[in-house]
Formats: sequence, structure tokens, C-alpha cells
Amino acid sequence: MTPYESARKYFFDAAELMDLSSNMQKLLLLPERELKVQVAFERDNGEIATLVGYRIQHNSARGPMKGGLRFHHEVDENEVRALATLMTWKTAIVNIPYGGAKGGVAVNVADLAQGELEALTRRFVDEIHDVIGPDKDIPAPDMGTNAQVMAWIMNQYGKYHGFNPACVTGKPVEMHGADGREEATGRGVVATTRALLDRVGRPVSETSFAIQGFGNVGSHTARFLQKSGGKVCGVTDAVGGVWNPDGLDIKKLVEFAVENGTVEGFSDAEPISNDELLISDVDVLIPAAIGNVLSRHNARDVRAKFIVEAANSPTTPEADDIFHEREILVVPDVLANAGGVTVSYFEWVQNRQHFKWEISRVRNELDRIMIESFDKVWSLAERRHVPLRLASYLLGIGRVGRATVLGGI
Ligand code: GLU
Repeated sequence: MTPYESARKYFFDAAELMDLSSNMQKLLLLPERELKVQVAFERDNGEIATLVGYRIQHNSARGPMKGGLRFHHEVDENEVRALATLMTWKTAIVNIPYGGAKGGVAVNVADLAQGELEALTRRFVDEIHDVIGPDKDIPAPDMGTNAQVMAWIMNQYGKYHGFNPACVTGKPVEMHGADGREEATGRGVVATTRALLDRVGRPVSETSFAIQGFGNVGSHTARFLQKSGGKVCGVTDAVGGVWNPDGLDIKKLVEFAVENGTVEGFSDAEPISNDELLISDVDVLIPAAIGNVLSRHNARDVRAKFIVEAANSPTTPEADDIFHEREILVVPDVLANAGGVTVSYFEWVQNRQHFKWEISRVRNELDRIMIESFDKVWSLAERRHVPLRLASYLLGIGRVGRATVLGGI
């Protein structure tokens, strides 16, 4: 199944349970606007690179559209469309006043020099600046992009529309970014994981974890888990992985990964592959990298009792069904990784108020929103006797649907 087919399947499962009319389903599923642009720039060797960029604006019923910008070689229209719909449900589930969008450029950033990355980013903004903005659509980091890329977006946007830091989030803290934005997705994943463990009566200190991915999301998740007393036994990245049944020293692992560009080769641990990590003997599995890694090919072999989706769309619907049947609890992406966009919201609020929050305020508000959202989804799942993903979709789609009806079309 392609990511878009998966996203549609999850939507239709919920829509059916909600008795949504077919007209309403069509209205809620069809993106409001899809932009596909040429992104051409000159490479350092004098050659012209011509790439394709997308910004897909799915829904604005609850507010300006919001979502990350992905620079990755696997980006295609379908994937961006799927991720845009996820953003709509995600912002609704945590009840922040946004709709959903996503952008992407099909490119391998590892092949680009810093200046080329800047040229590509500015050119992309040249093509899309008219449809983004603080009250229209606010980009943010995603795979392959970071605070520096957001700084270029803010600067390039400003050349057309004047200085306005609220046009993009995830900026460097020295450039109107929010303290705590970078760690936010990982912190939110951990707040959600703790809320889950609380519900099932299991102390974090007696729980083992495996994390796939050690980028921004995976590394901060590992850090906060260890801080909470959890035992992180396995971590993998795109190059390799490390395993220690007694728990890895995450502080040292982060230092090692920063120095070496990978966790592979870290001492006090055995090597482990990505495939092995996904079926390793831990209590909680946290996919924090790319999509579709849990599928019908490995779902029956997963040994974890809980899966917390830090990545977007890591589980195919077939695998999701298998997990349900095997009574493995899955906290879905649209809830588990919503900490990133939540602190993006705080950044946007601070930019608009020209008032900077202390990091303690950012963290407290984030934890509160994540725990409240988790509790809401958990109660709904209990009341309707449905898995957490379906409950999340019921909550998210319900809110978007009500806003659509109230606003009219
Ligand atoms: N890219 C992140 C996500 O998928 C964050 C989006 C945002 O902050 O707008 O949720």
C-alpha cells in the first residue's frame, strides 16, 4: 500500500464509524490546493539542477494550514499528500488552531553542499511564497530540513512580504525560534509513552525500549526516556545500530553519534540491524525514522507489547490489523509525534506576540497538551471499544468536521 492509500484507509475506517455522508467524506479528504513546482538552481560545478517541489494544503477548516517541509530522495506527490492529511488530523487531535499541509522536494541532501541547499531552499520559496504565510500556511522542519533551512525560508519570504517570523516555525533560537522546539517531538513522544505506561500500570523504570532512528526525534526521545528512568536497549540509524540488553548510555551515544555521524561502532554494545531491532525483545518499540517500516512482512514477529509511532506513517494498515489481533497497543503518529507541531504553535504564538517564553513554560504547556490529548483518545477508545488509532481519527476528524459545518463552505 502506498502512504496515501494507508492514509485514506485510516480515514475511511473512522468515517464509516462516524456515519459521515459520502459528500462530507469527499469534502474532508480532498486537499484544498496542491502545488507542484519546478525548483531549479545552479550547482557548484556550474550545472543546472532541476528538481520537483510540492506544497499540498489539505485542509484549513480549523485555521491556517501547518506542516513540515521534507527534503528526501523518496518524496513524491502521493507521500506529501498523505502526510498533509495526517497534519490536519494531528493538529485537530491536540486541538491547536491549525489545519494541515505538507511540503517536499525530491532530493538527496547528502549530495548537496551547504550553499546548494540554500539556493534550493530560496528557489523553492520563490515558487511558493504567495500561498504560504502566518495566516495561510506555515512550514516547519521535517526529514532532511532543519532550523537553518527555516531561517532561509523566513529570510526569503521576507523579501517578498516584509519581515514576519511567524511565516515559518522551527527557526534557530537566535532567529525568533522557540526554546524547546528542537527537542519537542521527542519530549512529546516520551510524555505520551509515560501516559500510556501509567494507564497500563507499568513503571517506566521497569520498561525496556528500542528506537529506530537517531535523528532529531529518535535522539531526543532516547534522552528523555533515559531521564525518566527507562532502559533504552537498542538504537539504529540509516547506517547501522547498537544493542545492549542492560541499557545504552544515551548521553555518551549522542556524543558518539554527533562525532561519527552514526551510532554504529559505539562501544559497550553489540551491532544490530534495523530489521533485527524492529523485532527485538523489548517492551516498547519506537519507530522514529521513515514510513512503512512495520508491514505484514514483520508484524507477526514484533515482540514488543507497545508501539509508539514517533515517525509519520511507520505502520501499514495490514500490520496495524495484525497488531490489533495480537493485542499489541499502538499509539499512532497523529497523537504520539504531535509534540513537534505543538511547540511550533507556541513559537508562532510567541512570534505574533513578540514575547518570548521561558523553556519551562514551553515544556509544561507541551506536557499538559500531550497528556490531555492522550487521555482524551484513551477514554474515547475505551468508550467506543476501538484501537487508539481509530479513536484518534474519530477525535480529529470529528473536530475538523464540526468546524467545517460551523464555518460553512
Ligand atoms: N514535521 C513535523 C510533523 O510532521 C512538524 C510540523 C510542524 O511543526 O508544523 O508533525
